[in-house]
Amino acid sequence: MSRILFDSVTKVYDENILAVEEFDLRIDDGEFLTLVGPSGSGKSTLLRMVAGLEEITGGEIRIGDTTVNRLPPRNRDIAMVFQNYALYPHLTVRENMAFGLKRSTELPPGEIDERVEEAAELMGIGNLLDQKPKHLSGGQRQRVATGRAIVRDPAVFLFDEPLSNLDAKLRKHMRTQLQRLHQTLETTTIYVTHDQEEAMTMSDRIAILNEGMLQQVGTPRQVYNQPENTFVAQFIGSPSMNMFVAELDRTGDRPRFTGDVEVDVSEQRAESIDNRSDADRFLLGIRPEHIAVHESPTPESVPAYVDIIEPLGSNDLLYFELEDGVGVDRVVAEDVDIGADEEGDEEEYKAFIEPESIPNRYESGDTPVHLTFDTNHVHVFDPRTGENLDDGRPATTESRPESARGAGD
Ligand code: ADP
Repeated sequence: MSRILFDSVTKVYDENILAVEEFDLRIDDGEFLTLVGPSGSGKSTLLRMVAGLEEITGGEIRIGDTTVNRLPPRNRDIAMVFQNYALYPHLTVRENMAFGLKRSTELPPGEIDERVEEAAELMGIGNLLDQKPKHLSGGQRQRVATGRAIVRDPAVFLFDEPLSNLDAKLRKHMRTQLQRLHQTLETTTIYVTHDQEEAMTMSDRIAILNEGMLQQVGTPRQVYNQPENTFVAQFIGSPSMNMFVAELDRTGDRPRFTGDVEVDVSEQRAESIDNRSDADRFLLGIRPEHIAVHESPTPESVPAYVDIIEPLGSNDLLYFELEDGVGVDRVVAEDVDIGADEEGDEEEYKAFIEPESIPNRYESGDTPVHLTFDTNHVHVFDPRTGENLDDGRPATTESRPESARGAGD
């Protein structure tokens, strides 16, 4: 069994730099798990601790049934693919791919050759075996580095930002290649990236890190539809989730969020939010695809001003501003990163709209359009903790699988 367990794993570097704090996660046998987060969030440190390239300060890492904390890297049955590929320039592709096997196993040369050729075939580099790395393109080097990992037939693959040196088109192509490879080999994989799109498209599950702490783990759909806090809400998804400020008004017939946005909610939902927080004002997260734009006001609409419209082909992206002074008192959110920049400038709001659904005259910026918000896709966050307060969030009916839980619960 090559499942991986992180149990309360902590890493403190010299000078008391806390890089990873009490990290709990169980990765199933055959799973493709992506660690994603901004630069410096502790992703590489975690990966390097699994590989044995970094000491573990506290807690335990298990691969299969073996605690690997003190095992040297070569005894961990892992293969790692690095961002810079780490190929030997003076060796051919064949020699590069065979190098690890020759050193770490007693396999006869014939079998090593066979394995190298099989892996090269799988990676589509069979015709490059006698070339030196300097004659290869970035994409080809990436394939050699991955091929070299496959040859070892390890229990676990570790990928550290393997595609970030490639151009956008090649990156997308390699993404699908790596997915296919995973479908074929079904080797337990930990993949590190700062690119949320890469994480969303490739993974069985995603673990989102910020400042050395696990924020949420779940399937791509779960973390997109049910973000547990504002960090996840804004990190996952592009363009990111809009954040508005609103009060919960219970004086009318139905409870309603009112402020930057106007959104009715059910009594049940309002009660559950009230029970979980005594905040007066809330952060409301709404993705660009859940905002509708109208030319005339409706009872639920708020006015907004068109900033620019970006045609994207299948739809347009509308950048808008809210009326001056409407609820954009960011003080309520001073402890929570809601995307406003350091000078306190308001964030940019965005909505996906049908192409050409707004006449050109609105592009001038001084005529209001009218926005309504899909109450079923509004996420309600506590402005002090960033926590998602909303049990009534609709999103998917997908329940949280057993394996989505951390190791500790
Ligand atoms: P990521 O991979 O998410 O970019 P890292 O794991 O590289 O993050 O780094 C996490 C934190 O640990 C950062 O604050 C980084 O500066 C620090 N760090 C990483 N490597 C070392 C090191 N060898 N010595 C001291 N601090 C380090």
